[in-house]
Amino acid sequence: MGKRIFSGMRPTGRLHLGHLAGALTNWVKLQDDNECFYCIVDWHALMSDYADSSKIKSNCKEVFLDWLAAGLDPEKATIFIQSHVPYHTELHLALSMVTPLGWLERNPTYKDQILNIQNKDLSTYAFLGYPVLMAADILLYKGEAVPVGEDQTAHLELTREIARRFNNFYGDIFPEPEGLFTETPKVPGTDGRKMSKSYGNSIDIADEPEVIWEKLRTMMTDPARERRKDPGDPAKCPVWDLHKVFNKNAAEKESLAEGCRTAGIGCVECKKSLYGHVMTLLEPIQQRRAYYETHGDEVTDILREGAKVAKEVAAKTMSEVVEAIGFVE
Ligand code: SF4
Repeated sequence: MGKRIFSGMRPTGRLHLGHLAGALTNWVKLQDDNECFYCIVDWHALMSDYADSSKIKSNCKEVFLDWLAAGLDPEKATIFIQSHVPYHTELHLALSMVTPLGWLERNPTYKDQILNIQNKDLSTYAFLGYPVLMAADILLYKGEAVPVGEDQTAHLELTREIARRFNNFYGDIFPEPEGLFTETPKVPGTDGRKMSKSYGNSIDIADEPEVIWEKLRTMMTDPARERRKDPGDPAKCPVWDLHKVFNKNAAEKESLAEGCRTAGIGCVECKKSLYGHVMTLLEPIQQRRAYYETHGDEVTDILREGAKVAKEVAAKTMSEVVEAIGFVE
């Protein structure tokens, strides 16, 4: 059956349209033909939120509900929470033994985050080593492929290097995972910047329809369309970027673009059309979410079962690791 795929997501709370279009839609497709392990990486959340861990639990719950709502299927994929499988931390320690400090200090994302995240003290031992935990997450399941965006290639390369170095010391335990590159669509938030919870510009999967309309109604457009009679350019409009992702009706898009350029339509009309397409996509997702919100026992069972399956696979890898290192068994 296809490849063994691992992918994880940090629990940052409710997911938005950017997560849906950028990752989840792809994950849902992958689970049909591959052996997928999808993991909410709560230890990673603690690396940056150690000073206030109070939201990690509820954030995990929200992410899990959004995953199930989006169509991740426990019958097809193993879906679980990282801390439910303690072997992640054990392999993290084993891999940290063989990872040279220089590899971590050179990691471009680490340097970026240290510079850009000002409100948290990230100068910790664990934060420097977070790519080692990422490597452990993937290698624990002998992941052969990892869905990655352009910005994650450095991390995947580091995982490959750590696997190679471990294998050189102790024998051929880990496959070097490949990147499954999928084009990540541009999904701007309501202010035109990349959709992100931290910018406060996101449209969440679980937002009420009226909230979604209000966010779209007030969303930034091509600034040239100050008045209804001013022509615009869809290429300069973030609303149009959302049409490109969520509106599958080519003829309608052509007519809206023409209406924008000639001031034949107003932005409200254009946004109403987008709202319709977004809601067509979200309605079944929100219905599934509502179901799981009121069936907490089922959600707990899915999590338990996911952890059980993940633990079995992880235990096997860890016993190979322990044997290869040569500890007393
Ligand atoms: Fe943007 Fe549509 Fe308004 Fe044109 S008509 S500026 S594409 S919202």
